Amino acid sequence: MGTDNDNSAVIKKLVNVETQILFVSGSAADQIVLSALIGRGESASGVEVSSAPTAPAFYEALHSEKTFHVIVVDEAVSWSPWRSVVMSISRHRRNALLILLVADGEREVRRSELGQYVAAVYPRESGGLLALANLVTKLAAQGRSFSLRQHADPEAEDEGLAEERETLVYAVSHDLQDPLQLAKRYADVLGDDYRDKLGEAGHKVLEHLQFNLGRTQEILDELLDFSKLQGNAPDREPVDLDALLDETVELYRVTLDEIGGIVTRQRALPTLMVDRRQMQRLLQNLIGNAIKFRSERPLHVAVRAQRVRDEWRIGIKDNGVGIAEQDAKRIFRMFERVADTEGVDMAEGMGMGLAICKRIIDNHGGKIWVRSSPGNGSVFIFSIPQSDDEFDMIGA
Ligand code: ADP
Repeated sequence: MGTDNDNSAVIKKLVNVETQILFVSGSAADQIVLSALIGRGESASGVEVSSAPTAPAFYEALHSEKTFHVIVVDEAVSWSPWRSVVMSISRHRRNALLILLVADGEREVRRSELGQYVAAVYPRESGGLLALANLVTKLAAQGRSFSLRQHADPEAEDEGLAEERETLVYAVSHDLQDPLQLAKRYADVLGDDYRDKLGEAGHKVLEHLQFNLGRTQEILDELLDFSKLQGNAPDREPVDLDALLDETVELYRVTLDEIGGIVTRQRALPTLMVDRRQMQRLLQNLIGNAIKFRSERPLHVAVRAQRVRDEWRIGIKDNGVGIAEQDAKRIFRMFERVADTEGVDMAEGMGMGLAICKRIIDNHGGKIWVRSSPGNGSVFIFSIPQSDDEFDMIGA
C-alpha cells in the first residue's frame, strides 16, 4: 500500500516543461523505467512525465488544466478496463498523441482494432519502452507538434462513447443491487412491524416508497440484462417464430383487446436457429413499442418474413406515430428516446428496449433498422443470417 501511494505521486522529471507526457499504467516499475529512459536521451530537456498509476490519478490528470502532448496507456492497467481508458482519452484529450503499450503478441491485433484512436502500438517487453522513449525525446527535441493522430470518425467515436457508458452501466447496476435490496427490506419492515404507528399519511408515503423502489429494481434489472447480453453467444436451437409470436401476442392480449389492436401475419413465419429467450425478448420489445407508440388509428401490427440470400429478414410494421429520419439511428443506442412523442406517456420506459434488441441481433450476427416517417407508422426490420447447414437442420 505504502509503495503504491508513494508511486502515485506524480513523478516529475526534467526542467524546461514543453512536452508533457502522461503515463497511464498500473506498473510503477515501467513508469520509472520510461522516465529514466527519457531522461537519458540526448535531447531530453523539455519533457515532463506525469504518471497515473491509479484511477483517481488518471481522472485528475484527464480533467486537469495541463496539456498532455503524449499519453501512453499500458494495456495491463489493472484498475479499469483499458479500452475505457483509451475511449476516455480519445474523448477528452483529442489532441494528444495516444500510444498503447501491449503484450508482445498483441501488437497487430490492437493496431487494426484501435487504429483510429491510437497513433502507435508498442510491445511492452521487447524494447517497446525504449522505442517509446526515443520517439518522445525525438519529438520533444524537434519541437514537433503532435498531429500524428488520425482523426476519429464520428461513428467510431459513438461506439467509443457507448463502450464507456456500458462499463459504467454494468458497474452501477451491479453495485446498486445490494443497497436497493436493503432499502426494500427496511420498507417491508416498516410496513409489517410499524403499520399501526404510521397513520394514514405515513401509509401513503410508504406506498410511494415501495412503488418507487420496485420501479428502481425494474430499471436496474433491465440495465443488468443489457450488460449481460454483451458478447453473449446465442444459445441456438430451432425456434418456431410463428409460435413465439403467438406467445408474445398472448402476453399483450389484455391491452390489445382494450385498445382494439390486432397483430397479423401474411404467412407463417419460419423456424430459425436462434436463442429462444433472446428472440422472445426481441419480439416483446418490438410489439410492446408498437403498442406504446400507437397513434389515434386502431393499432394494426403486421409481421412479415422474407428470405434474402443467406439470411431471413423479419419486418414488424405498425401504423403508429412514426419516427423522424434524424432519430432513426440513435434510438437503437442506450437511453436514447424521442422526447415528447405525441400522445405517449413518456414516463414509461427508459430508452433501453431497442438497445437490447440491437444487442440481441448483433449477437446473432444480423442487423436491425427502422423505416419510418412521422405520422406514417414504422417498420422495424431485423435480419438473421442462417447458413445452409442450419437450414438443413431445421428442414427449411
Ligand atoms: P423506450 O420504449 O423505453 O422509450 P426504446 O429503446 O424501446 O425505449 O425506444 C426508443 C425510442 O424509439 C422510443 O422512446 C420512441 O421514441 C421510439 N420508438 C420505438 N419504437 C417505436 C415505434 N414502434 N413507433 C414510434 N416510435 C418508436
